[in-house]
Amino acid sequence: MRRFAIRRVDRLGRIVIPIYLRQAMGLGEGDSLEMYADGGKIVLEKYVPSCFFCGVTEELKVFKRKNICIACLKQAQEVTE
Ligand SMILES: [Zn+2]
Repeated sequence: MRRFAIRRVDRLGRIVIPIYLRQAMGLGEGDSLEMYADGGKIVLEKYVPSCFFCGVTEELKVFKRKNICIACLKQAQEVTE
């Protein structure tokens, strides 16, 4: 059975995500969320950093403010050689 929560948005636009939702999503203090509008809904998703080029989520480096995995980084180096 789906649980619903109603929260008021404060003057800065903040809401509190109920603890049972945070636990269900494995969301802890300091974690980041992606948010976007989808039709009439606001969608919140746990942010998992991934490679800008292939979507891999492990062994990431940052290049020009974009995440890039080691494999894509090596491929990019080969292109320039
Ligand atoms: Zn990659």
